[in-house]
Amino acid sequence: MNPFIELGIRHDIVNAITELGFENPTPIQEQSIPVLLTGSNDFVGLAQTGTGKTAAFGLPLLELINFEENYPQALVLCPTRELCLQITNDIKNYAKNMNSVHVVAVYGGASISDQLRQIKRGVQIVVATPGRMLDIINRKAIDFSQVKYVVLDEADEMLNMGFQEDIDSILSTTPENKKTWLFSATMPSEVRRIAKKYMTDPHELTMGEKNTGNENIDHEYYVVRARDKYAAFKRIVDFNPEIFGIVFCRTKIETQDIAEALIKDGYNADSLHGDLSQQQRDKVMKRYRDRSLQLLIATDVAARGIDVNDVTHVINYSLPDEIENYTHRSGRTARAGKTGVSIAIINSKELGKIRQIERVIGKKFVKAEIPTGFDVCEKQLFALVHKVHNVQVNEQQIEQYLPRIIDEFKELSKEEIIKRFASLEFNSFLEYYKNAPDLNASVDENRRDGGERFGRDGMKSEYTRLFINLGSVDEFNRGDLLGYICNNTKISGRTVGKIDVKGVYSFFEVQNADVEQVMNGFKEVDFKGRNVRIEISGEGTSSTRRSGGGGGYNKREGGGYNRERSGNRREGGYNREKSNSGGGFRDFSGKRREERPERRRRF
Ligand code: AMP
Repeated sequence: MNPFIELGIRHDIVNAITELGFENPTPIQEQSIPVLLTGSNDFVGLAQTGTGKTAAFGLPLLELINFEENYPQALVLCPTRELCLQITNDIKNYAKNMNSVHVVAVYGGASISDQLRQIKRGVQIVVATPGRMLDIINRKAIDFSQVKYVVLDEADEMLNMGFQEDIDSILSTTPENKKTWLFSATMPSEVRRIAKKYMTDPHELTMGEKNTGNENIDHEYYVVRARDKYAAFKRIVDFNPEIFGIVFCRTKIETQDIAEALIKDGYNADSLHGDLSQQQRDKVMKRYRDRSLQLLIATDVAARGIDVNDVTHVINYSLPDEIENYTHRSGRTARAGKTGVSIAIINSKELGKIRQIERVIGKKFVKAEIPTGFDVCEKQLFALVHKVHNVQVNEQQIEQYLPRIIDEFKELSKEEIIKRFASLEFNSFLEYYKNAPDLNASVDENRRDGGERFGRDGMKSEYTRLFINLGSVDEFNRGDLLGYICNNTKISGRTVGKIDVKGVYSFFEVQNADVEQVMNGFKEVDFKGRNVRIEISGEGTSSTRRSGGGGGYNKREGGGYNRERSGNRREGGYNREKSNSGGGFRDFSGKRREERPERRRRF
């Protein structure tokens, strides 16, 4: 039997949702539908966006409402116009095979007279944002005296947006004995308070741990110097050729600046922020949904309620001021059971904030390294190869040119032709990236105010640099190596200093007091049949490191990249990397993008 039928949903609804691809209920649907179908409980569901909560309350509403009667029986309040339209649409889709179901969307920024007209015609389910709803109530244009169910969706967001008073006023027009169902991604004390205020003995459902982010999201952070942020961001994007992302900034200005810089650099990007008219916002969102935009640069407020499936990356270009907002941002990816990555690009002073976020989401971030120029080239090259492999050939169109093309290539072997096709783009990647600097800033989590490093005893520490005969060819990056060292030696990761992963070997620093333990720990350790060798490195023996004043700690062997950058880099100088190279960043053809605007990437 269809599992939704088993949950108590009728056939005509099940048929409609099957068409939408709902084969099995999501966990929240499985657990909430039977409770809500009784119609006799208040309900609190702690669930992230993208978990299927619209159907979790939408399907029971369709079962419980008497559609032979034409007055408001259910009111769904949600924070944004986007979400309001989404919920309305979803419910209409679930009810596709039912008769006389009238759902109306009530939200600001659109003609109120249309909405009033729809309400006048008769409606059973009202989906609304609080501001416009209150406006309509104040005009005495709707009667909520017979409402049976109120849904507060994304309650935390509504409170964040300052809708508390509006919600109070709206709910005061609904009957005492209605049932209230509250959904929230997080449960700050304000939400607890409204749950207490409006509900009696609610049935509580927590999907996963409280305040825990979606399990399918990987969280990564990159540490860069402030002046390298934009270049680092672009490199991350370039390293992910298939990225379909939302980039969060803190302010409208920043949003606009980044979007403009990206557009100049040949990316498919646009900004979404509060200064745009509703029409402009709709246009941007349409382009993003249609995937003719690859990167949506948004403020928190503008991006609220955005429900686009298949977002691969959320990038926190700036961390949110409110930690809770991180959950909302990252929840834009990994929707409907998919996986996604949430990235934070930070400077070393913001590490504390990452630790705070980790506590809120109950999940650890992985420290990632900004890819090298070569890494990006390699990634882009293979993306190109895959694209060539999978391209849809228009047989009819190409046929007439084929003889001439084949004639052109007749001297060349298959291997030569492949090499040339690949080089066509690869040469320009290499050209662009040949002097690409390392953008990773060193991080020292033990650092205190003065920038000195302290050991477990709180005293200044002396460090010894050790050599290990494992490196990137053994598929170690800094994080892996740190884990490997700690596992084998049982020293704390916090006491390990700089790690420098090379090809077949690496260097890492440990406190002098730990050297013996590390040497002993690796005695007789074998990695894939090879003895692991640790030696005290000849260069840079023990020292007390001070990082204040840009001391040696930030410099790498063979460094000099700071010099190359000369002192004239503007902080946040978005176009620097582009102007250094003298070419449009995305335009790997070697020609300036301005000459070839059609080369902007589309999916
Ligand atoms: P929501 O959390 O309601 O915004 O849902 C997130 C996405 O998951 C939407 O695109 C839904 O269409 C989809 N979805 C919801 N329930 C199911 C299900 N049972 N099976 C497959 N997809 C679903």
